[in-house]
Amino acid sequence: MSKMLAIHLKPGREKSLLRRHPWVFSGAVERVQGEPASGATVAVLGADGRWLATAAYSPRSQIRARVWAWTRETAIDAAFFRRRIRDALTRRPEIATGEGVARRLVHGEADGLPGVVADWYAGITVLQLTSAGAEHWREAIVDALADATGCARIYERSDVEVRSLEGLMARSGALRGDAPTAPVEIREHGVRYLVDVVTGQKTGFYLDQRENRAGVRGLAQDRDVLNGFCYTGGFTLAALAGGARSVLSVDSSGAALAVGRQSAALNGFENGRAEWLELDVFQTLRNLRDQGRRFGLIVLDPPKFAPTAAHAEKASRAYKDINLWALRLLEPDGLLATFSCSGGVGADLFQKIVAGAAQDADADAQIIERFHAAPDHPVLLSFPEGEYLKGLLLRRI
Ligand code: SAH
Repeated sequence: MSKMLAIHLKPGREKSLLRRHPWVFSGAVERVQGEPASGATVAVLGADGRWLATAAYSPRSQIRARVWAWTRETAIDAAFFRRRIRDALTRRPEIATGEGVARRLVHGEADGLPGVVADWYAGITVLQLTSAGAEHWREAIVDALADATGCARIYERSDVEVRSLEGLMARSGALRGDAPTAPVEIREHGVRYLVDVVTGQKTGFYLDQRENRAGVRGLAQDRDVLNGFCYTGGFTLAALAGGARSVLSVDSSGAALAVGRQSAALNGFENGRAEWLELDVFQTLRNLRDQGRRFGLIVLDPPKFAPTAAHAEKASRAYKDINLWALRLLEPDGLLATFSCSGGVGADLFQKIVAGAAQDADADAQIIERFHAAPDHPVLLSFPEGEYLKGLLLRRI
């Protein structure tokens, strides 16, 4: 017993674990037994010594441990990662079915693998490891992914800010096979998109918006569309495919816009309908208003303004601002598809912010639909924090 690596919780702090919430915060820890290294496997024990879970220890992070397993018999070893990854893939049978399929293969906590994200882009797997525990098991995880996907190419994109919170350096590069030398072509609901897995944002593409892009496609017919924060034109191409009269796409990243333009050409969308602007959206919305422009459909999909609840107030102002100006740019009966991917702003708060924006814009609006992340980004019932993406489809009346 004395050699066992363990975290002893403070009295009363076992409650969230009994509800199977997979995070142990530093404030809940009474003492650490043994000297677990970063990412080492530890037992989580209640104040009464009761065994609660097996977890990965992260000495630097406020999230001091992340649970791997809720049963004591489960060994954390290479076979464990093979099972969890195989299970995650079994839940996404689509990857085997068609040309150009792109899916999230492993979605962190929701697939029982905190800190592990893997995306599949038409034959290339892109892996992102964001926790000390995931980093500790990187070889086992990469082997398991290679086996389960049969995929000869695995590319790492662990170059994200959150790694520093875990005391980890950014890492990226080829893990299996060669690094892609050109963007990968995927197909989404029949539309062709180029994905730059090496230099693109996240793992290259915002797969979480897949079904929402299909939704926007169905609304775009004969409308003049504005796509704010367009990245590589996800919603732009969907709107063009849906028969939009015109699509004005705005993003501050010239590299992203260049990929978007290439993708539009690949689909044979005529140039005349698409206009791409490398500009700040906040300013551009005001300028478009000054120019008297109006749109029948506006999409706003900004970056994470509030990564955590601590940023919620500043983020609220930013969300309110863009939604206010977007509502002012809508034609009568125009539609606004507005999103937030901020973990720190919940769906209720987001709706309140948008309601405040409508009030200030002197606009009445109906909620027609609510948007969520695509089903390959599931939310664990015991881990509602996993529900970061939310959106509203509004009609201005
Ligand atoms: N809707 C996109 C994803 C948007 S990601 C899709 O479906 O693929 C958010 C985008 O906002 C990024 O491309 C980033 O470059 C851009 N961005 C961030 N701040 C910006 C600003 N102030 N003005 C314009 N674009 C911005």
